[in-house]
Amino acid sequence: MSYVVHYCKNKKCNNAWTDLDITNAKTIPPQWKYCKECCKSLGIEFDSQTYKSKLSDKRKSELRNNLLNYRKQKQAKEKT
Ligand SMILES: [Zn+2]
Repeated sequence: MSYVVHYCKNKKCNNAWTDLDITNAKTIPPQWKYCKECCKSLGIEFDSQTYKSKLSDKRKSELRNNLLNYRKQKQAKEKT
């Protein structure tokens, strides 16, 4: 297991800490979880935070948009 510097998910919080590198971040510091202080104030368990890929969410919405566009184009074609 390698370690990497994490930044707090809270943009107003400038905390950074060293944590396990589960996303293989390499150069870009991960920013998907809150620091321990923010967790305390938000009432969430620091260790219960799980990684969700932002890329896959983005990819999902891209695919959804592609599908919608495809349907629109198809409908437009059928009208003419
Ligand atoms: Zn924080």
